[in-house]
Amino acid sequence: MRTNIIDTKNKAGEEVELFGWVHNRRDHGKIIFIDLRDRSGVAQVVFTPGEADLYKTAETLRSEWVIRIVGKVAQRPEKMVNKEIPTGDIEIQPIKLEILNESETMPFPIDNDGYDIDEEVRLKYRYLDLRRSRLQRNIKLRSDFIEKTRQFLFSKGFLEIETPILSAPTPEGSRDFVVPSRLNPGKFFALPQSPQQYKQLLMVAGFEKYFQIARCFRDEDLRADRGFEHTQIDLEMSFVNQEEVMAFDEEMITSVVESLGYQIKEKPFPVFTYQESMEKFGADKFDLRSEEDKKNGILAYAWVKDFPFFEKDKEDRWTFTHNPFSMAKPEHLSWLLNGENIDKILTTQYDLVCNGVEIGGGSIRAHKADMLNAVFKVMDYKDAEIESNFGHMLAAFKLGTPPHGGIAHGVERNLMTLLGEDFLREVQAFPQTSSGKTSVMDAPSELGQKQLKELRLGIKK
Ligand code: ASP
Repeated sequence: MRTNIIDTKNKAGEEVELFGWVHNRRDHGKIIFIDLRDRSGVAQVVFTPGEADLYKTAETLRSEWVIRIVGKVAQRPEKMVNKEIPTGDIEIQPIKLEILNESETMPFPIDNDGYDIDEEVRLKYRYLDLRRSRLQRNIKLRSDFIEKTRQFLFSKGFLEIETPILSAPTPEGSRDFVVPSRLNPGKFFALPQSPQQYKQLLMVAGFEKYFQIARCFRDEDLRADRGFEHTQIDLEMSFVNQEEVMAFDEEMITSVVESLGYQIKEKPFPVFTYQESMEKFGADKFDLRSEEDKKNGILAYAWVKDFPFFEKDKEDRWTFTHNPFSMAKPEHLSWLLNGENIDKILTTQYDLVCNGVEIGGGSIRAHKADMLNAVFKVMDYKDAEIESNFGHMLAAFKLGTPPHGGIAHGVERNLMTLLGEDFLREVQAFPQTSSGKTSVMDAPSELGQKQLKELRLGIKK
């Protein structure tokens, strides 16, 4: 029975039933205007003293009360037409008004963009913050982006497969979040920094084309574009080479963003080697847009490839630059296997950059035990350590693992570039605060004695 408010624009003369929030109330003495809002839009409801009971109830209405209105959609008089809003040609003449719920005074306004409001307050009342039209738009675009991606991948024969959250560590260069095990006192699960190992194991399992809208957890210092949790479009394919994954991914991103109405600056996406990008831009991410492009919301994608596989860490030890599970460039594989020319070994890694932001990255993977083992050897891992942390991968790679490769896209970073938002929190429904606390709910928080005892944990002060 319910009519979405946006649809009232085509219903002049009809009776409708509307549900929504009082966006605002303007009391003009002899006439009360309510802007009624639902997810689809806003429409004006007009109360006149002629309808005494309705008028009296309307006088009590306050911002953000939830109401039901049955009313007639009427053409507005010419001079009252509001060209600014889609329903500006009509107004609602109420027949019934029912108050479904009242609201106390809002802790902050929600009819503006909200950027100026203190972050802690915004996130404490995130459910109200999310009512503002900017965040409604952002979260809707996020849903559309995921929907288009899923459609594309299903149309290409991919299976969507979930992988565990309680798991063993997967190194992606960050710290792990850990979860104590009650049944195995003193032992811990790690939350996945990415589904990297599982997606490779799914290739071993013969699924050939996998994707997942995957939650990833990384305990890192928080920045504008980094949170403890993010979501990836994570995918992996068997029997592919570097060019094929890049071309496939480019087709996916192009199809998704163009179907959302965005325009891409250059197709096919320009490709730079890491060395070229460092020489040209002094960085491995860069913005190819002109000032004009920026104004017009154009997306400038580019690939960066041929990264060094290893770099020295702070203690002067070799570590991976991107992903330890990657394959070296074929022409450098023998160096890797022999532990030679470490500084010159390039990896099959490819990163996708858009408007100055790294929005995706992947590689062709090691699919033989000696290749993966060689990577850990370069990083000076002891045999026992390799066996206990990655023995399962080495074992799998000796049991008919197909050559494979893939990529992952940070959903938030992609959304931020599409929307021109600078902060992760603007594209996640319930983000962490910059001091690492949850929105709305109070976490992290202390555990009670009973739970600590059950987990056999003690807290050192
Ligand atoms: N696992 C990588 C990451 O999370 C992406 C990939 O190589 O597919 O950054």
